Amino acid sequence: MTNVIYTCPDCGGDLTMTVLLTYPVIDSATCKSCGADFRKHEETKRIPLPDSFERYEPEPANPYQQPVEREIDRHPISVISNSLSSVEVKLDG
Ligand SMILES: [Zn+2]
Repeated sequence: MTNVIYTCPDCGGDLTMTVLLTYPVIDSATCKSCGADFRKHEETKRIPLPDSFERYEPEPANPYQQPVEREIDRHPISVISNSLSSVEVKLDG
């Protein structure tokens, strides 16, 4: 593989390639030596999305969905005694 460094048409210095994050993006080249700035102007085409893309429709959130079973749910407990200050329980599982 070959690395490419573009050179300035004005002075021959190395160019720094930058992509300007506009919409659409603009390719930019700036000369490190003389400061010349070049912008690549390309025509923008609008084309339909290829068939390899499928519409993504997430499942709607279900507010009535049962909660995920918790560890404590697998070990039912029996209340042996109950008072205002404490609860005594027995693990059944
Ligand atoms: Zn230059």
